[in-house]
Amino acid sequence: MSGTKRALFLDWGGTLAQTRDNRTVVDATGNPVLMPNVAETLARERPRFDSCFIVSNQARIGRGEITAAEVRRRFAWANERLGRPFTDWRLCPHGDDDRCACRKPRPGMFLELAKLHDVDLAASTHVGDSDRDRDGAANAGLATFVRARDFFGWPP
Ligand SMILES: [Zn+2]
Repeated sequence: MSGTKRALFLDWGGTLAQTRDNRTVVDATGNPVLMPNVAETLARERPRFDSCFIVSNQARIGRGEITAAEVRRRFAWANERLGRPFTDWRLCPHGDDDRCACRKPRPGMFLELAKLHDVDLAASTHVGDSDRDRDGAANAGLATFVRARDFFGWPP
């Protein structure tokens, strides 16, 4: 059964937060460094959607390089920093070999959030920086995928 709400799904690394060597860049206080134009763009675009989510592959958790709690703390920090645009968030702690249902390009995180929050996936948008994100959006039945550089207006 399809939900009713239009949602904006956002990737984390390379989309909302800066990464280097596939790790989130943190500042001297241990908090994430956000990508350019994120605050301004979300302030403008968020009202066009009923709900907004972070969906993030976090294979470093499965490798023991960071805890799920720390990743969630960073998401919560960004939510406060940006004026609470996010309705909820999901992370996938697995690697490719785990064959889970949630690691993008699999649609598990989108489907779980849609069920929980009454989301109409076909009317929703995913913003991400990788082909995994694009394919995850397609596999979840989203009509729209937007490259992060286009959504946030980064120079080429
Ligand atoms: Zn997973």
